[in-house]
Amino acid sequence: MSQYEDRQRLAGLFAKEVSVYVSTHPKSQTAHQKSQASLVNGVPMLWMAKWPGPFPIYVDSAKGAHFTDLDGNDFTDFCLGDTGAMSGHASAPTVKAVQDQIAKGATFMLPTLDAAINAETLGARFGLAKWQFTLSATDANRHLIRFARQVTGRTKIAVHDYCYHGSVDETFAVLDHQGNTISRPNNIGKPSELHTTTVSLPFNDLAAAEKALATGEVALLLIEPGLTNIGIVLPEAGYLEGLQALCKKHDVIFALDETHTLSAGAGGITARDNLKPDAVVLGKTIGGGVPVGAIGFTEELSEKIANSLELESIDVGGVGGTLAGNALSMAAVRATLEEVLTPKNFSRMEQLAITWQANIQATIDEYQLPWQVSRIGCRGEYSFRKTAPTTGAEAAAAEDFELGQFLQLHAINQGILMTPFHNMVLVSPDTTAVDIEKHHRHFRDAVELLFAK
Ligand code: PMP
Repeated sequence: MSQYEDRQRLAGLFAKEVSVYVSTHPKSQTAHQKSQASLVNGVPMLWMAKWPGPFPIYVDSAKGAHFTDLDGNDFTDFCLGDTGAMSGHASAPTVKAVQDQIAKGATFMLPTLDAAINAETLGARFGLAKWQFTLSATDANRHLIRFARQVTGRTKIAVHDYCYHGSVDETFAVLDHQGNTISRPNNIGKPSELHTTTVSLPFNDLAAAEKALATGEVALLLIEPGLTNIGIVLPEAGYLEGLQALCKKHDVIFALDETHTLSAGAGGITARDNLKPDAVVLGKTIGGGVPVGAIGFTEELSEKIANSLELESIDVGGVGGTLAGNALSMAAVRATLEEVLTPKNFSRMEQLAITWQANIQATIDEYQLPWQVSRIGCRGEYSFRKTAPTTGAEAAAAEDFELGQFLQLHAINQGILMTPFHNMVLVSPDTTAVDIEKHHRHFRDAVELLFAK
């Protein structure tokens, strides 16, 4: 819990924002009433019910860094589909590629040449020789875990405390106060006890990693190179290189899930920090919004996997998906990587995120807030603690659901969409300095409401 103590004021401020929200979104409200009849909780997926306010915003259309809702309200979108649209909504090259491909057929159970071209592009960016494509980052992680067990003959994976890698059973692990691996709270219908599949590791703790990897039970270390799903937690100097060396020493597959940390640049943190992972996972934005995931492997790991498989049963071996690697996704990835998520655009995006961070810091300083702001490339996040968290547990301890909901809804009422459940922003190639300044005004106004004497 944050140190914000005036809960009565917070409740009053939130109630005011709710009434503004309801009065400016009548069509979204009607749409939600209709949805209640046929959708579970009135939404197409469980977590969509978690947005602040009595009903979610219903989108009409989007272009670049903006979208318009059913009521005609214009939003600067800093959520960008929680990275799915980090490349900007409806980017012209992606739209054209998708239109062209769907007119020629979307899915065949056969490859198109785009897949190999995408593998070459990703290979050059991440320094990995071989690639495979899925429909989501979740699937990519799930498949990587199976491959790792297959080639090492070991049963467990290691992940970070408070990690998120999609809805992958083995990754819903956290540490209890005694340092034991247990299930995350509210792990829906968990299929097994987490300590039987997983070792949870505190972020930035090489000694804990060494102890876990030295047991010889761990097939795969699967990590985000900076945590992004419990606020941003940055790696300390030498931490990632240390993990890489420990994996080498103990023959553990070292895998970086760069689905979110791709915000660091075209080759993610892998290229930025010159890391040499055995595998990399990507997803979300590489298809410009079209569903896709990817796994990159070293030549050596890819060969080990290939040599361990039987062609006869390869279609029902637990790694697959009929639509995986489909022509439509591959066409979208090609256009998005080659023309939208370019190194040049990444540097522009990062520059704007640097300005965003400086703005937040200026307000934190002005009001002497016990808050901090962190950034990974074009992804920024502030949290309700004085110093940057060094572990997932520290970041989790600073969470304040009600304070977060107020800030989210205040932003929405100013025409700004933040990534929900955090105070996170993403900058796209289409985001402008005007958008950044708009967020600055919202943040300062909200802080004034919360802290004015
Ligand atoms: N990996 C990371 C690091 C993620 O943050 C997420 C989703 N937030 C995923 C994987 C899963 O992505 P998806 O839900 O698109 O499968």
